Amino acid sequence: MSDLKNKVAVITGGNSGIGYATAKLLKQRGASVIISGRSEERVKKAAAELGVTGYIADVSKLDQLDKLVAEVKADKGSIDILFVNAGIFTPAPIGQISEEMFDHQMGINFKGAIFTVEKFLPIINEGASIINLSSINAYTGMPNTAVYAASKAALNSYTRTAATELAPKGIRINALNPGPVETPIFGKTGMPEEQLNQFAAAMQERIPLKRFGKAEEIAKLVAFLASDDASFITGSEYNIDGGISVNPLLT
Ligand code: NAD
Repeated sequence: MSDLKNKVAVITGGNSGIGYATAKLLKQRGASVIISGRSEERVKKAAAELGVTGYIADVSKLDQLDKLVAEVKADKGSIDILFVNAGIFTPAPIGQISEEMFDHQMGINFKGAIFTVEKFLPIINEGASIINLSSINAYTGMPNTAVYAASKAALNSYTRTAATELAPKGIRINALNPGPVETPIFGKTGMPEEQLNQFAAAMQERIPLKRFGKAEEIAKLVAFLASDDASFITGSEYNIDGGISVNPLLT
């Protein structure tokens, strides 16, 4: 089991879903954990449940990221693990993509991710690990996900370049591409429940392991990449998707 003792971890969007499960696991493995999120109420509640520190910051707002980094620096000095997890999923068909939706989704999933790294970089220790939460959507043509998929494909491209640039500092950076995972993210899309259930059933049928992933399963891979056990891994992407990315044409 990957030991994270004496490591300081920051998890953006740590009050829900994959971020929450990861905060719990990294703490169990010995890390000192800080979560951040947009809603003061939800961050406070999650931080209290998890027994970790919580700060408020919208990752799409650079001034809020500056404030977050200043708070973390004052609290811990520097960090060893940065889990760039905050993200949204806003489906829309091509032909109905609004500028507002584009800016919002790209602003969080891509710009927000890049500037999370950019702003934290001055307080990231040598030998640290950055993990970017992408998606297998980066490689699929799933209907209605053009902007979401592009935001994650852009993040994966960024991860590769960042890996070569950050290597001289001993900082590793990798990306995870989960398939569908049971989290509140789908309920936030505004899709009616019946449509969501149909989507889930159809998706499950296509996944070779015939189920959605669990947030705890993603957390275990994050914990590994965050640990010194992954000391030779940088610039990599990991599909963690029940096999859907090798989905056959016929199920
Ligand atoms: P979630 O909705 O439970 O969690 C997302 C978290 O990000 C929440 O805490 C939310 O408050 C936070 N967040 C959103 N916008 C933010 C902003 N502007 N500033 C700060 N925090 C913000 O969903 P999740 O499924 O746990 O999603 C986590 C990540 O996993 C996302 O990047 C998502 O794209 C990715 N992902 C999810 C799935 C899935 O099936 N659930 C699959 C692939 C990738």
